[in-house]
Amino acid sequence: MKCEEFQILIEDYADGALAEKASSLVNSHIADCAQCSSFYQELCREQQIYARYQRDIETTPLFVVIDRNPNQPGTSRSQP
Ligand SMILES: [Zn+2]
Repeated sequence: MKCEEFQILIEDYADGALAEKASSLVNSHIADCAQCSSFYQELCREQQIYARYQRDIETTPLFVVIDRNPNQPGTSRSQP
């Protein structure tokens, strides 16, 4: 198989969508081929960035709610 063909499989492999047999094929090729190995690592890095980005979107509304009520003078505490 050519590297181009492997790289199509590697995209599925990074998603965890590859069947066991095909993923072991990809796995052994990545071990041998520097080009496909770096291609796979690049994919993994993108996925991590994407996963972190999604988490940020999920947590953002909470921060917005907190930021909307900064310490307002005179409302929560009476003057001494
Ligand atoms: Zn290769």
